[in-house]
Amino acid sequence: MKRLVQAPNLAIATLWSDLLVEAGIRTSLQRVFTSGLAGEIPPDQALPEVWVQDDGQWERARELLDALAHCEQRRWFCGACHELVEGPFETCWNCGAPMPAQA
Ligand SMILES: [Zn+2]
Repeated sequence: MKRLVQAPNLAIATLWSDLLVEAGIRTSLQRVFTSGLAGEIPPDQALPEVWVQDDGQWERARELLDALAHCEQRRWFCGACHELVEGPFETCWNCGAPMPAQA
């Protein structure tokens, strides 16, 4: 088992882990239960971590995570209501219109 990444909070750790599991990569969340101890241990040691169970899948997991991070920086304007949509969404959060085709 190999550590993949440290997440800023449990919600994001769970999101990343779920994404990897969907891609067929077995993951394990570590330090999930230490958050209640925050303040008693150094903050960087209290953050949840995503581990890859099979070392052979680590590179693939890293690529997926990089792709996700890139995806989160995406921003586009809705063609229907002109709302700015940020994040990995492919439909407008405001009106539900699909993301316009990328050039
Ligand atoms: Zn819209």
